[in-house]
Amino acid sequence: MSKPRIVVLGAGYAGMMTTKRLTQKLNPEEAEIVLVNKHNYHYQSTWLHEVAAGTINHNQARTIISDVINPNRVRLIYDSVAKVEKDENKVVLENSELSYDYLVISLGFVTNTFGIKGMDKHAMFIQDIDTAQMIREHMEYQFIQYKNSEEKNTDDLTILVGGAGFTGIEFVGELVEKVPQLCKKYDIDRRHVRIINVEAAPSILPMFDKDLVDYAIHSLEQRGVEFRLGTKINECTEEGFIVGEDNELIKAGTIVWTGGVTGNPVLGESGFELTRGKVTVNGDLRAPGEENIFIIGDCAWVMDEAAGRPFPPTAQAAMQHAETCANNIEALLHNYPLENFVFDDKGTVASLGVTDGIATILDGTKLSGKSAATMKKVVDNRALFLIGGLNMFLKKGKIRPF
Ligand code: FAD
Ligand code: NAD
Repeated sequence: MSKPRIVVLGAGYAGMMTTKRLTQKLNPEEAEIVLVNKHNYHYQSTWLHEVAAGTINHNQARTIISDVINPNRVRLIYDSVAKVEKDENKVVLENSELSYDYLVISLGFVTNTFGIKGMDKHAMFIQDIDTAQMIREHMEYQFIQYKNSEEKNTDDLTILVGGAGFTGIEFVGELVEKVPQLCKKYDIDRRHVRIINVEAAPSILPMFDKDLVDYAIHSLEQRGVEFRLGTKINECTEEGFIVGEDNELIKAGTIVWTGGVTGNPVLGESGFELTRGKVTVNGDLRAPGEENIFIIGDCAWVMDEAAGRPFPPTAQAAMQHAETCANNIEALLHNYPLENFVFDDKGTVASLGVTDGIATILDGTKLSGKSAATMKKVVDNRALFLIGGLNMFLKKGKIRPF
């Protein structure tokens, strides 16, 4: 009899951790493990704002998958998933098809524009390595073009960021580090460059207490970020955002939308019932009504029963989903009862550049400044270590001193 085949879709935090744990839990004779990913590399999505600003090189944020996962143990397929045909236990890839006995869908997030007119066409997104690199290159191109143009228009140097959630704030935090470097490189007066963050809500980062939010706003404003809070973006054009009740146009040369994320569109293509783009999974992380399909990471809504709402989509949660998912696949293979996912909240950290940040950790302790920035690096390094061991940590880790 042939071995059961476990297929993991997506090599982000959730997919890499699930694959790694399965290789540790199961004998090679027990099951065939297949990992499918669009590229031959895994990337740290949590570092994409740094790639986008250009404060780290994109190669630091990515790792060749076969350097971390043994290709003799796990079959690695580099291809794009088009859809899952649940009734036939089959995955349709761009270039082939693949059958499965157990399936893990961990295809991550895509940027959500909420249908705002022109956003897809005119704004750039911090979604993956390629889109992040495009932002960095576009921004630098604006500086070069400004430097070399005869009729200088300072609007071309403005960087406009839509949304002041984690991604928007962490991105402007990196920009305040990068912009002075670009000004120096191209001999441009720093005062000509504006970094504008537009947010519909009256404040930023609603998950943090007011004192930490005030700290973050003050720190970023002091370093040159202009906030437009309580200002809804109605439309995006080639020239910038159209905002507020009076439809004011804020012009910019670089327009970045960080207004939210949703689950991978493959979920919809595959006929899963969606809630705001994701699948609300059972306590054991299986898709409703499916015995052999797990949906984890940013593709899943996992309910926080105590709060009556889903947990926010984070790498921290995605890696914990992976542990439960691997345990439950092992349980299915061995006919044990499945376990329910329990989130172990280790806290929340937002960086405000390389040496600044805010954090609420474990027992509610609040941090700001360098200690929070250090905490962020510890969290980043821990994720590298969990996914790729000491080798990946030493190669890619954030171990430089401030
Ligand atoms: P992902 O990490 O998005 O991985 C999905 C994988 O699937 C990728 O490898 C992708 O290439 C692949 N893929 C996608 N589509 C296809 C396809 N059709 N076919 C084949 N492969 C495909 N969370 C935290 O906890 N802490 C943080 O500090 C933090 N910082 C963040 C900073 C930024 C800028 C962003 C954008 C997010 C941040 N997050 C953070 C959230 C975190 O990155 C996500 O929650 C996490 O990446 C989800 O992991 P995942 O494995 O579900 O998906
Ligand atoms: P988000 O949903 O957290 O924030 C989006 C922001 O955009 C919100 O503040 C929203 O009010 C604003 N917005 C939406 N529509 C708008 C409009 N029309 N005009 C103006 N503002 C508008 O999205 P995100 O920042 O991309 O984060 C996505 C997820 O990734 C979060 O749930 C978070 O948990 C996770 N994340 C975590 C970290 C971290 O832990 N450090 C970092 C980045 C992302």
